[in-house]
Amino acid sequence: MPRRGPLASFMACRKCKTIFQVTEKNEPIRCPNCGSTDISDDWSGLIIIFDPSTSIIAQRLGITKPGRYAIKVR
Ligand SMILES: [Zn+2]
Repeated sequence: MPRRGPLASFMACRKCKTIFQVTEKNEPIRCPNCGSTDISDDWSGLIIIFDPSTSIIAQRLGITKPGRYAIKVR
């Protein structure tokens, strides 16, 4: 069974920067957070936000919900 690399199956949303895992079942690929189809596999800087109200990074990136996010999405 051919498998993609462990990080190759993670995509990031260009709108809200959420990182989510993609399997063949999710196609067409949509962001599970905002529903956008504007997503990219070219992202860097994984951060996990537990409490956006106390995270300076979350406030800087405009993140309001806990989750996994990319710092940069190209
Ligand atoms: Zn999104």
